[in-house]
Amino acid sequence: MASGRNGFPRGPNLRNSSSFKSKLPPSSTVRRSIPGALGAVSGRVRVAVRLRPQNAEELEADADFADCVELQPELKRLKLRKNNWDSDTYEFDEVLTEYASQKRVYEVVAKPVVESVLEGYNGTVMAYGQTGTGKTYTLGRLGDEDTSARGIMVRSLEDIFSNISQETDTVTVSYLQLYMETIQDLLNPANDNISIVEDQKTGDVSLPGATVVEIRDQQSFVELLRIGEAHRFAANTKLNTESSRSHAILMVQVRRSVLGRENDFTSEHDVSSNGVNNFKPPIIRKGKLVVVDLAGSERIHKSGSEGHMLEEAKSINLSLSALGKCINALAENSAHVPVRDSKLTRLLKDSFGGTSRTSLVITIGPSPRHRAETASTILFGQRAMKVENMLKIKEEFDYKSLSKRLEIQIEKLTAENERLQKACEDEVERIKLEAQKQISEAERDCAEALKEEKMKCQMDYMESIKQLEEKWMLNQTKHASNGFIGTSHAAEGGMPSGNDEVSELKKLLQNEVQQRKAAELEIKNLKDCLLKSMKPELAGGNADIFNLQKMLEEESQQRKKLEEEVIVLRHQLSQLTLEASQTTSCPDRSRTGNGFVGLDSVSSLRHLQFKDASDGERPSISNLHEKVGLHKILSLLESDDPNVRIHAVKVVANLAAEEANQAKIVEAGGLSSLLMLLRSYEDETIRRIAAGAVANLAMNEFNQELIMAQGGICLLAMTASDAEDPQTLRMVAGAVANLCGNDKLQTRLRSEGGIKALLGMVRSRHPDVLSQVARGIANFAKCESRAATQGTKHGRSLLIEDGALPWIVQNANNEASLIRRHVELALCHLAQHEVNANDLISGGALWELVRISRDCSRDDIRALACRTLTSSPTFVAELRRLRIEV
Ligand code: ADP
Ligand code: MG
Repeated sequence: MASGRNGFPRGPNLRNSSSFKSKLPPSSTVRRSIPGALGAVSGRVRVAVRLRPQNAEELEADADFADCVELQPELKRLKLRKNNWDSDTYEFDEVLTEYASQKRVYEVVAKPVVESVLEGYNGTVMAYGQTGTGKTYTLGRLGDEDTSARGIMVRSLEDIFSNISQETDTVTVSYLQLYMETIQDLLNPANDNISIVEDQKTGDVSLPGATVVEIRDQQSFVELLRIGEAHRFAANTKLNTESSRSHAILMVQVRRSVLGRENDFTSEHDVSSNGVNNFKPPIIRKGKLVVVDLAGSERIHKSGSEGHMLEEAKSINLSLSALGKCINALAENSAHVPVRDSKLTRLLKDSFGGTSRTSLVITIGPSPRHRAETASTILFGQRAMKVENMLKIKEEFDYKSLSKRLEIQIEKLTAENERLQKACEDEVERIKLEAQKQISEAERDCAEALKEEKMKCQMDYMESIKQLEEKWMLNQTKHASNGFIGTSHAAEGGMPSGNDEVSELKKLLQNEVQQRKAAELEIKNLKDCLLKSMKPELAGGNADIFNLQKMLEEESQQRKKLEEEVIVLRHQLSQLTLEASQTTSCPDRSRTGNGFVGLDSVSSLRHLQFKDASDGERPSISNLHEKVGLHKILSLLESDDPNVRIHAVKVVANLAAEEANQAKIVEAGGLSSLLMLLRSYEDETIRRIAAGAVANLAMNEFNQELIMAQGGICLLAMTASDAEDPQTLRMVAGAVANLCGNDKLQTRLRSEGGIKALLGMVRSRHPDVLSQVARGIANFAKCESRAATQGTKHGRSLLIEDGALPWIVQNANNEASLIRRHVELALCHLAQHEVNANDLISGGALWELVRISRDCSRDDIRALACRTLTSSPTFVAELRRLRIEV
């Protein structure tokens, strides 16, 4: 071999690598390559040569001989002496003399590989050489007694540990021995036939059966090596071989999480600001360091060089010879690389011609006696230098850890979401409550406003009625002062005819006045004519003058007559006016006579009086009936003469106003007679007086039943619907009101139209009528309430059934205190029974009850309303709904 001929291929040998790539399984794609990361980088196998110092034996045996090698470390050259005058020169990547320290050897041979492994590449450090040249010394010294003697294995791990993070990175180790094509586990000797598994798809080689130990510190690694070494020794003793005949393989897997350290994914701020979409899986770099202490190369060399194909050697070092063949093939860019020929070449598939950064140290001894082995080793190294690898970073996304982080993040966000949702629900609830409060406030305001408006309307209404009444009164007075006619109340007994008479007289008077005026005008004309004619014809006109004087006299008489007639008519007119004014004061007198002292006062009609029966006349009437006899008077009720009938009924009515006479009148059949009079339509006066008498008789419970028995309610109802005169209606209403106060008559009274009759009379609008209607309703409600309490009455009020509620609600706050009191009391009675509650609420009575409970001036009624409102569940619920406090 020519010295210096071996080219030192410093640049990438593209031809070599490209041809190689096509022949080996695509180991570069075994693991996922990260786009944008380091691509494949050309990486030639680096080879250093190390010369062992002369040992004791050599010092003695070779004392007289020169060394077979001469090193020129500064030129990275080695000279192999052929003879005394000739030598071959070889260049290596590093030339390490016998003085090279273990530290330097590590830095030159292994450190670059370890650095690559830490960056995520695969790396191989391998020692090749004859037995005893220092392979194990270089790689496997533990340095127990002298730390400076620590070999490459120990230093590599030291370097790795000082460069990784204990939190995110892991280091695992397997330690194996390959002998006679059998792989043994040096960490578990029982595991003595480990098979190589090759992934068909990726071509990746693994030893799933090998023990993998995760180590956390240097000390435990050294301990592991020690154990492995002990097992190796024991195994070799058992197999009756030497360790120099086996290959020791240390596999160190370094797993580093790169982005895990650079990018803190767990940062909450990161997540909230960037969102989940910005998550990138952390990158895991997996670098594998393989340190191979090969078996001694001497036999293969000997067998190869000397042609002795010793079966034993061949068998023992099949792997080593296969490695040599592969290296040759790779170095020569051969089409076929026999990787599959041995287990060693299969295991080192990635180290030579693969993706690994590979550094080979060849060890030689100085002795010229082993020159041939030394030359063979040098040639192996030279060929290995030609092997080009394509370095590829081994990175993969750590989806597992990303998924774990995302899971944590999801949990956090879920919790946050739940918290927000709860807060949102609470807020909605709060707003809802607020809105409900506002609604009920608005409802209350609205109801109050409505109430005020209603009261205002009522007041306006009453005011306008008052004004109309005043106007009416004014008109009446005006008419009276004109001296023509009396008030409408003067109609008693003959108002329509009186009116006619007055207008008749008025007409006559006007006629007379006009006639008089016409006559006076004529006289004046005649006088003028006379004066004119007298002047020219004074002498001859005496006859005419006579005639004219005669006419004048006649006219004067006529005038006198007319004047007298005017005086008579005026007298008659003043007479009529006086009469009218007297009758106007009559009803007032009778009204003041009614002592409306209390709500239950059945005596409210006791002193119903009539024009013809003033106080002054009463003694004479009582005397009259004593003198004439009651029977006689009653019989006059049926007289054919209307005047007699009127007088008779007046007498009976006045008698009936006295409680003492009532029994006698009834006994004598007066009630039947009075009821009979109600049937007659002929005379309003008779009906009014008869109704008043019946009303007075109806104060007595016995009489009440009698009236009912005789069909009195029907007659009263008929009168109620026919009559126009408020005073008639007042009498009828009073009579019915009295009947309403009888507990026994409730049902019948209602069925015969009593309540309807009462309600029908409100059309009159006269306060006297309304007051009696209200009293009747209050009486009825009171009896009903009593019957309901006693359990004899069920179901809702007959008053409500007959449609009395609207009128009751309308008049509950009537301006007239008497009407108001009756109606308030009626409402309280109705409200005492739960069956009526819903009708009362829907009819608007609740507000009136609330008003009564607050404003009523009568303490007992106010207290009753209050009690009723708080004891009825329906009212209580409604009031709560309306947020009204009683
Ligand atoms: P190999 O493993 O190649 O068979 P060893 O490493 O067992 O050889 O070395 C054989 C002997 O030589 C050992 O006693 C070892 O201590 C010694 N030795 C090897 N290399 C050196 C060196 N560089 N410096 C000192 N002693 C060495
Ligand atoms: Mg050894």
